[in-house]
Amino acid sequence: MPELRRNVLDLTHADLSGLMAGWDQPSYRAGQVLAWMYRRFAGSWDAMTDLPRALRARLAAELQFTVPEVETERISADGSTTKALLRLSDGVTVETVLMRYAATERARARNTVCVSTQAGCAMACVFCATGQQGFLRNLSAGEIVAQVLHFARALVACGEHVTNIVFMGMGEPLANYAHTLAAVRALQDPQRFGLGSRHMTISTVGLVPQMLRLAHEGLQVGLALSLHSPYDDARRELVPTARYRIDELLAAAQEWAALTGRRFSVEYALINAVNDTPQQAEALAERLRGLSCHVNLIPVNPTANARTPRSRRARVLAFEQALRELGINVTVRVEKGVDIAAGCGQLRGEVEGRRPRAASALTLAPPGDALPAVSSA
Ligand code: SAH
Repeated sequence: MPELRRNVLDLTHADLSGLMAGWDQPSYRAGQVLAWMYRRFAGSWDAMTDLPRALRARLAAELQFTVPEVETERISADGSTTKALLRLSDGVTVETVLMRYAATERARARNTVCVSTQAGCAMACVFCATGQQGFLRNLSAGEIVAQVLHFARALVACGEHVTNIVFMGMGEPLANYAHTLAAVRALQDPQRFGLGSRHMTISTVGLVPQMLRLAHEGLQVGLALSLHSPYDDARRELVPTARYRIDELLAAAQEWAALTGRRFSVEYALINAVNDTPQQAEALAERLRGLSCHVNLIPVNPTANARTPRSRRARVLAFEQALRELGINVTVRVEKGVDIAAGCGQLRGEVEGRRPRAASALTLAPPGDALPAVSSA
């Protein structure tokens, strides 16, 4: 039976107020429910102890509120990365990652949650573990928000909170546009999760109409474009579903930058001797000259595909150096969680690939002492 009730995490304050009015409840009940959901991270209706019992029963009957079940959870050896495989109400699993960055001289400490927007992905990028699993379905806004709440709940137990959210987990966010944007709004809404603006980034393989639509939303959310090559034919080898040319993608991203006044990011997964040569660095710099962007180089996480090995360290540094000398803003992404298969789709690939599964959550590797590890188990 498909679930017909609305997910409480899909509702705004106005939606809930309307519901309460219809049930002859005082209007402040809407705020109470939202506070339980988004400030106290309740795990069930019954936890909302200041709501009358009869109201809790009615809420339970009419709205869906299920906390995703933790199928598997892993913590990296240094304690900085926790990856959860979460099971949604219909049984499909998605990955969510928490990355903790200690404070530096220049930046405050950050707790970044990386969420999935789809179960599986239709884009089929050859170096991506999710891409090899095919597409199952879109997630609802509530299911996207629930992933953030999962880690918010764990963090609050050690007096911390989520500071950043990146839409870089499984799936193509802009192929699930309406639900992704509804999740962004819920997470920014001061009456709901209330994450300050400018702390979210949507990553896309490059869907031009949706990128342009996003540019006009008037939302404070960053844009990352997954480019991976300066050449159209070579890019199509890596991203076989690519529908738009690189010049069209960059024009759309630049339009987004012009309208939002922000720089976009260019994601570039470095694959040894495939897209990391000096000529490609030069061609990339040529493409990006004059655009408001910043390049993130990501030495590719190893997956089952033997044809996409990670670039050797010297090649990564040479590629970075070449871009920098050509005047391009560039950084090499700080790698996290390689030891726990934290790359997009890797954990799900492992776990779903070896059924029957263990029933209980499992925590590998003890936390290091640099940062307190966060486990929600
Ligand atoms: N579909 C969106 C967002 C999800 S993937 C997109 O393509 O942008 C988020 C980022 O991780 C993308 O830049 C993607 O190319 C990259 N990625 C996927 N698999 C990877 C791997 N094995 N190693 C490094 N980066 C990877």
